[in-house]
Amino acid sequence: MPARATRATVAATLKIKIVQQLHAGAILAIPTIGVVVAVALLVRDGVDPWHVAIAAILYSLTILGITVGFHRLLSHGSFQAGPLISGMFVIFGSMAAQGPALYWACNHRRHHQCTERAGDPHSPHVHEGRKLSGWRGFLHAHIGWSFTADMTNTAVFGKDLLRNRSLARINRLYYLWVALGLAIPMALGALVEHSAHGALMGFLWGGCVRLALSYHGINGINSVTHSWGSRPFPTHEQSRNNVWMALPTFGEGWHNNHHAYPGSAIFGFKWWQVDLGAWTLVALERCGLVWNLSRPHFLEPAVESSRPADRSSTPWGPP
Ligand SMILES: [Zn+2]
Ligand SMILES: [Zn+2]
Repeated sequence: MPARATRATVAATLKIKIVQQLHAGAILAIPTIGVVVAVALLVRDGVDPWHVAIAAILYSLTILGITVGFHRLLSHGSFQAGPLISGMFVIFGSMAAQGPALYWACNHRRHHQCTERAGDPHSPHVHEGRKLSGWRGFLHAHIGWSFTADMTNTAVFGKDLLRNRSLARINRLYYLWVALGLAIPMALGALVEHSAHGALMGFLWGGCVRLALSYHGINGINSVTHSWGSRPFPTHEQSRNNVWMALPTFGEGWHNNHHAYPGSAIFGFKWWQVDLGAWTLVALERCGLVWNLSRPHFLEPAVESSRPADRSSTPWGPP
């Protein structure tokens, strides 16, 4: 390779690493500061129901975006949907500010391919050939990994996703979706209170509090559910089922189930294993808006989906 091309590649890689680390710092620091201010104002002025409502609604939509859009659809191709429904989930996922859809899905595919081994981007048990344990492992899996500037090769892990033009467009506009996720609650707050104070409260609750909760919820899947919980399936790593993580993450906490059956769109296998992501998908399936939901054989419904089983019929199909 000519020296100039090599220099350009090195410079481009360095730029991506710097952006990645700035992003990791911003998504940790800004919502944390916002939460401190929101709690201080709450102690001083009391709670206003619309603050909680706006945080809860935006949290639910963006967590669904992560678990249904980024995880079950893009990372695992565990169901199919048309471009409108797929695009909607991926845009909601982008609003969680956990990185562009492609970056998230490729990191996650690498996690499945290298679980608890060299190459796993966020294991609490191993990093760069060194064994981790205790709080060091926990902090690496929860926060530290995003600062390592360890890059996942999208050409290797996301070949199928790179071919999807609609996804590429949404991916390119990542910062717009993050900004919208902050602008929408600010605008709603200004409308509710007819004041700048309302916009500020919308930013704090619908933006910062919501982002902090989804950050710790989803990173808790890397740290908590690879450390504490039950292991009904004897997988060759440390994934766990943890009800306290499953409830706020809309089903992600049934992580041992997921590692045992990664292609399944359903994570909660028992009736009591609450999986709001799967329940949303089953409801959409009944309306004909998603189809070909993958399930383990023991969860197959008696009546098949009415949609054709042609996986190539959608541009959002699995690899
Ligand atoms: Zn895992
Ligand atoms: Zn997965």
